[in-house]
Amino acid sequence: MAPNGLRPEWSVGVTTGTWAREPTSRGVEMVAQAAARPYWLDRDLRPEPRPRLVGEVTADLLVIGGGLTGLWTAVQAAERDPSRTIVLVERDRIAEHASGRNGGFCAASLTHGLGNGLQRFRDEMPTLLHMGRETLDAIEGTLARLGINADVERTGELDLATTGWQYDALAATAAAGRALGEELVLLDASAARERVDSPMVRGALYDPEVMLIDPAKLAFGLADAAERLGVRIHEETEVLGLSRGPSGHGSSGRVCARTGYGQARAGRVVVATSASRSLVRRLRLYTVPVWDYALMTEPLSDDQLASLGWSGREGLADSGPRFHYFRLTADNRLLFGGWDAPYHFGSDDDPRRAHRPGEWALLGEHLLQMFPQLEGITATHTWGGVIDTCSRFCAFWDTSHDGQVVTAVGFTGLGVGASHFAAATALDLVDGLQTERTALEMVRRKPLPFPPEPVRWAGITVTRQQIARSERRNGRRGAWLTLLDKVGLGFDS
Ligand SMILES: Cc1cc2nc3c(=O)[nH]c(=O)nc-3n(C[C@H](O)[C@H](O)[C@H](O)COP(=O)(O)OP(=O)(O)OC[C@H]3O[C@@H](n4cnc5c(N)ncnc54)[C@H](O)[C@@H]3O)c2cc1C
Repeated sequence: MAPNGLRPEWSVGVTTGTWAREPTSRGVEMVAQAAARPYWLDRDLRPEPRPRLVGEVTADLLVIGGGLTGLWTAVQAAERDPSRTIVLVERDRIAEHASGRNGGFCAASLTHGLGNGLQRFRDEMPTLLHMGRETLDAIEGTLARLGINADVERTGELDLATTGWQYDALAATAAAGRALGEELVLLDASAARERVDSPMVRGALYDPEVMLIDPAKLAFGLADAAERLGVRIHEETEVLGLSRGPSGHGSSGRVCARTGYGQARAGRVVVATSASRSLVRRLRLYTVPVWDYALMTEPLSDDQLASLGWSGREGLADSGPRFHYFRLTADNRLLFGGWDAPYHFGSDDDPRRAHRPGEWALLGEHLLQMFPQLEGITATHTWGGVIDTCSRFCAFWDTSHDGQVVTAVGFTGLGVGASHFAAATALDLVDGLQTERTALEMVRRKPLPFPPEPVRWAGITVTRQQIARSERRNGRRGAWLTLLDKVGLGFDS
């Protein structure tokens, strides 16, 4: 043991494919001097805040939430109908939460992966896969059309097996995907290590339908584009409540959104508030805030980069039930995040929960297990963010207030690409259109709600413990996880 009581280094995992369970001194060293704020938001390119809403504003469409879902909604609404008046209000700053804290994996999957999609929407999967590919193309096309540079690299994703049982699971996914026409490529250990040189790698599955982006550049670019298209944006403007105004004179049946210094009245409202307490009371049990943590290293030197043998620059993720995601940035920093996903009693999303040194040090250790070549590298930034987890692990839509308000939430950590689709669907619904999207079972059906506390906390805690246990038992899921699988609540990354 080192003097600080931490294990000096973890050497067992490299031969067994298992991850350190406790932070180590070298993990602490990596992160100890890092700024505890999201790298993406800590750059000069962050715009000054737009003014708060003061007084009353009237619009055809009000969008609540300035993350990617809200921003895509505003941009698409303005492009669909340039004569429509649109206001977007954001409680904090544009992209302050999940949208400015994520890994920037922009996947075609609308269902949080093939396995989850097949489990829930088997008959619809061919359509959903097709719509996912269209979504990715539409995102690229929109960025080109609107002149947004978000450092897009369409390099695909390699899902890495670090154990034999993970490799078997990837092989099963490859077979299921190929049966649906997906171009998934299974790589054995030596082929996988040619793509990324890590002693942890036992095989991989390559999915070309993923691109890497700079999420903050995307969000800031969308906000600018929205304004150019006539959208009015107010930051630091929290909606405190929604109510339907009386129809008839003056307010003509508009929905009223009360804010700190004023109110917005709109004929249609899209709510894109992610993990925050829903403005629609009956939706409050449908999502829980689950925390996710990440670090960003200093830029890698040319020698460090070459030592990783990662010339394809794919997004990487290992494939256990608890997993890491990692990628290179445009300036060759390494973002490394994921693993533990804590939930706090009472759906506590207090921003102070974002600060978790032990988690960051553990991520640092795991990074060095994955890439021992990087021993001595330091992190410049560490952060945490909240994920809007729902019980089916992919977005859902709700219509309320006599059809005038549509909510789109529940991405469960895979919403960078899916937010574009969620926005298009929310607009279809709020405009009363019947489209291929609104006909989907995925859109018409909602997930099961979570139970109230204390059952919610107990259920999530037991599930997290059982998931950790299943990793130690070569992926065997045990009675509790099998029961959840049977009732459609099981999750396997
Ligand atoms: C650490 C982390 C890593 C992730 N990595 C990935 C990844 O690599 N790939 C991927 O696809 N997805 C990832 N995700 C998820 C992804 O970031 C989101 O699903 C996606 O950005 C869509 O976000 P959103 O707009 O729905 O939510 P948010 O970005 O959270 O935006 C919601 C906004 O609503 C605002 N708001 C809430 N209540 C109110 C109110 N009453 N009034 C006004 N405004 C309000 C909030 O302030 C917030 O800014 C990750 C998430 C986290 C936290």
